[in-house]
Amino acid sequence: MNKIYFDHNATTPIIDEVFEAVVPYLKDQWGNPSSIHWAGRGPKKALEEAREKVCKLLNCAPLELIFTCSGTEGANHAIKGLAYAKKDRGNHIITTKVEHPAVLNTCKHLSKEGFDVTYLDVDPDGMIDLEELKKSITPKTVLITVMFANNETGVIFPIKEIGDIAKERGVAFHTDAVQAAGKVPIDVQDLNVDVLTISGHKLYAPKGVGALFVRRGVRLVPLIHGGHQERNRRGGTENVPGIVALGKACEVAVRDMDKETAHLKALKERLEKGISEKVPHIKINGHPDKRLPNTANISFEFVEGESLLLNLDMKGIAASSGSACTSGSLEPSHVLVSMGITHELSHGSVRFSLGKSNTMEEVEYLIEVMPPIVERMRSMSPLYAGIK
Ligand SMILES: *Cc1c(COP(=O)(O)O)cnc(C)c1O
Repeated sequence: MNKIYFDHNATTPIIDEVFEAVVPYLKDQWGNPSSIHWAGRGPKKALEEAREKVCKLLNCAPLELIFTCSGTEGANHAIKGLAYAKKDRGNHIITTKVEHPAVLNTCKHLSKEGFDVTYLDVDPDGMIDLEELKKSITPKTVLITVMFANNETGVIFPIKEIGDIAKERGVAFHTDAVQAAGKVPIDVQDLNVDVLTISGHKLYAPKGVGALFVRRGVRLVPLIHGGHQERNRRGGTENVPGIVALGKACEVAVRDMDKETAHLKALKERLEKGISEKVPHIKINGHPDKRLPNTANISFEFVEGESLLLNLDMKGIAASSGSACTSGSLEPSHVLVSMGITHELSHGSVRFSLGKSNTMEEVEYLIEVMPPIVERMRSMSPLYAGIK
């Protein structure tokens, strides 16, 4: 059976170039980068070279980058670090209803510590309203945290505009760019973001490594206290192989982005068009054009998403409902529900997130196997019988 992976927003495979770059740092170059002797020198050099490569992807300076162990850690560090650093000035945080749990649950935790959190609504396209954002800012607002691109729908938020508003009002701004990094250009010189989070395993590096851009002059309270690594901003001996991998993955992302975007866009457009033509009673979710090139989120009426996924799995196709972190739970997607999609329809929603190695043949295969699966499932639905 063919194995087809359409779940790149959950995690990506490690590409060969990244794998090969890492091997020496799992084997011969095992030293501690903080050591001043011969064993530390190679790893230290690799660490700083990787830092420069990540900086190229974001267009920032090496001093502005902290390595972390995940996107979740980055979001925690950014949000708690900024909130704690500014708590003398105010206790109000603004975010959106459609953030990843790494952001939502960090904000939820802070609200137990006395912070007030405003969760901005999104419209049926999954987009926030900048006027609502402006109106939400109070003299007590110290932090805005809005994701760059949504992991479930691929909707891309107006980060530049949000950054301009934050700067004008003197509010710190963090963006969770885990899904955007490597898929769309990110230039922190052009965006008024103070802190930005990325994660290795969403851009073809392994799990357990990430990075945080912290603009020069922005103060963050450290999350992990320990040694003097990362200029006292994050303790703990660095994950050298992971960091080398992240550096390589960023280098490849910069090099291949244009080609990759064109490839993904073509596949996504064919997927959405093919399914729309062959399967009735569906809805494509998310803003029509402000969307990542790789993400298609489709609701199928009169179908239970989890069974649809199992049926696809039997055909070798891996996709997901909502985010990997919430799938398996019976809660409907908080993202789709925030967009005004009914609980029922959101239960019938599937996310196809494409990546580097996917081909047009794989998309055609999906378009071919999908209609009979959906038809068979609907034939068992009493509601659908009523419609027909
Ligand atoms: C995956 C993801 C995260 C979490 O990153 P980890 O490295 O898995 O902790 C955060 N935000 C978004 C938008 C994500 O897609």
